[in-house]
Amino acid sequence: MNILMFGPNGSGKGTFGAVLSDRFGIPQVETGVIFRDNISKGTPLGKEAKTYIDKGELVPDGITIPMILSRLMEKDCAKGWLLDGFPRNKTQAVAFWDALQKEKIKMDYVVELILDRDTAKKRIMGRRLCPKDNNHPNNIYVKANLPVEKDGKLYCRVCGSPGLLTRADDQDEAAIDKRHGIYFDTNTGTLASVNYFKERVKVIQVDTVPGVKEVTENLFKLVK
Ligand code: AMP
Repeated sequence: MNILMFGPNGSGKGTFGAVLSDRFGIPQVETGVIFRDNISKGTPLGKEAKTYIDKGELVPDGITIPMILSRLMEKDCAKGWLLDGFPRNKTQAVAFWDALQKEKIKMDYVVELILDRDTAKKRIMGRRLCPKDNNHPNNIYVKANLPVEKDGKLYCRVCGSPGLLTRADDQDEAAIDKRHGIYFDTNTGTLASVNYFKERVKVIQVDTVPGVKEVTENLFKLVK
C-alpha cells in the first residue's frame, strides 16, 4: 500500500499519518522528521537544511528530491510507504510522479487533509506540551483537548501535571505564516502539487475540523 498524504501544518498530518501507517503496517516517511534527525546528528545535510527550516522556507529541491527517492528505495519500504511532507511544491510533484512512472510504482491513495488557514494556525499556536509526556494532547484552542484550568493555571488534561510548555517553533508566527503561505499557494506551492495529482489520480479529501476519533473513522472508511 502506497499512500501520499497532504495537509497544512496543524492539520494533523503526523497524527493521521501514524494512524494509517499502523493500520497498514507501512513506514511513515516524514520529510520534516528526516531533516530534524539530520540536524540533531549534525550531518552536512542537517547543517544545510537547518538554514532553510529555521526561516520556514523549503529546503532546495536539489537536496530534497533525491533524498526522498532514495529513502523510498530502502528495505522497509518494500511493502509500501506513507509519505508525509513531500511533495511540497509543483517541481517536487512532477519529479515524484515521473519517478513513480519510471519505476512502475502505483500510488494507491492520495489523501488531502482539509483545514482552513486560521484554524490551522490556532491549532499550532495553541499546542501545550505536558512536561511528563509529550504524547498527552493539550491545546488551548481545541475543545476536545483543553487543559484543565484551576486558579488561572493550566494542568495537563491527561495526568494533571502543572507547568505545561510551548514549543518555540509553534509560537513563531512569522515562520508559521511563511509555511502556510507555501502550502496554500495554488500556483507553485503545495496546493499546486495537490492539483497536479488531482489531474492524474483520485484524491481523497478528509475534513479535519472534527476530533481525532471522528477523522480516524472517516479515514478508515475511505482508505482500505
Ligand atoms: P514539517 O515537519 O513537515 O513541517 O517540515 C519542517 C520543515 O522541513 C519545513 O518547514 C521545511 O523547511 C522542511 N521540509 C519538509 N518537507 C520538505 C519538502 N518536501 N521540501 C522542502 N523542504 C521541506
